[in-house]
Amino acid sequence: MSSTGSIGVTILGSTGSIGVSTLDVLARHPDRFHVFALTARDNAEKLAQQCIAHLPRFAALVDERAAQQLKLALQAAGVATEVLAGSAAVAALAAHAGSSYVMAAIVGAAGLAPTLAAARAGKRVLLANKEALVMSGPLFMEAVQTGGSQLIPIDSEHNAIFQCLPSASSVGTEGLVRGVRRILLTASGGPFLRVPAASLRQATPDQACAHPRWSMGRKISVDSATLMNKGLELIEACLLFGVAPAVVEVVVHPQSIVHSMVEYLDGSVLAQLGNPDMRTPIAHALGCPDRIASGVESLDIVRVGRLDFESPDLARFPALGLARTAAEAGGSAPAALNAANEAAVAAFLSGNLAFTDITNVIDRVMQLHSVVPINGLDDVLAADAWARGLAIEFTGSAGASSLDSQSRAGSTKLM
Ligand code: NAD
Ligand code: MG
Repeated sequence: MSSTGSIGVTILGSTGSIGVSTLDVLARHPDRFHVFALTARDNAEKLAQQCIAHLPRFAALVDERAAQQLKLALQAAGVATEVLAGSAAVAALAAHAGSSYVMAAIVGAAGLAPTLAAARAGKRVLLANKEALVMSGPLFMEAVQTGGSQLIPIDSEHNAIFQCLPSASSVGTEGLVRGVRRILLTASGGPFLRVPAASLRQATPDQACAHPRWSMGRKISVDSATLMNKGLELIEACLLFGVAPAVVEVVVHPQSIVHSMVEYLDGSVLAQLGNPDMRTPIAHALGCPDRIASGVESLDIVRVGRLDFESPDLARFPALGLARTAAEAGGSAPAALNAANEAAVAAFLSGNLAFTDITNVIDRVMQLHSVVPINGLDDVLAADAWARGLAIEFTGSAGASSLDSQSRAGSTKLM
């Protein structure tokens, strides 16, 4: 399979922004890692290019027709990568004995099953797919524990927090947060940080996706524009580090140089800094406890010059409040919040919902949600399906125009 000592890596979502950055870091360390499997949804062309460049043993696409195209393209190129199709194949590759590291970089709830499979199979899970953790919460952390998996956060903020906490090989370790007074979760503020409330309604998908600091997939870019990304990250931090929501404070830091901070009981505040480039947390998680090159430029702190911090505007960005409420409620609330957000963001990206109605729809769904405890995966999937269905109903049947009149009437609720 590989030269002795080389670590096999599987990437779930290899054709996305995180997937591409991961391949970039891996290619810098051919003696240390080899690519075991690459998976994506339907981009056969890009996956073919990646297979030709990285020669994985397996490649899988969820879409059957795209998988057929990939097979033909690889045959034509003389590449021996075995091609699989369907979401079950993706989950099987996540748990396959041929790799010991799995990069979880699928976007959204679709990443839950394969990421859980990797955790249960005892892999080192490099977690970018925050939605999988947010929706399944304690269930996910339990799978990490019982599977003997090592969970390393890739989200830049959580990777920063992890680096600022007392040394541990994995999150979820008992005693990790002893002596911690606060976690300061930094947020860039997104592309609309200085946009007045009155103009937000007209924001287009392209404007929402034009992030000033980070280049990312479209879903997370919209989440960054609404600040729901920070809301999901607040829930993510509570789960990863075993702290109450009140311990996590969101601070807007437009330069995105300080990736988050941890304050201790003695008043010490530790921060992790660096250029905003996801290859840093990816290389950290791949190399940990060693430090390995990532290709990221040295931080020119003099050129950065200043680091600004301010409180988030909760009135203009209600997503943060919605997420904090869901974090405090626990149980099925984060799964419902995440699913409503995914449906609303999809409607916005396809031009069927106004920007400010993303959070209005989520608010409306959450007002109707009866929180139940999460005892198993079925509870997670039920909350997800319920909230997603309702959000689709609100975005579809209510339509952007009727939501528009509601918000013009000055109501933040749709009911
Ligand atoms: P992206 O849209 O660029 O890529 C998503 C990947 O997931 C693609 O490879 C796609 O083929 C795959 N995918 C989509 N739907 C799928 C499905 N139903 N089944 C299987 N595969 C599917 O997204 P991204 O920006 O790379 O983000 C990926 C994850 O990482 C998200 O959860 C995001 O929140 C998180 N994240 C991203 C960044 C970033 O800088 N991009 C930073 C922090 C966290
Ligand atoms: Mg982040």
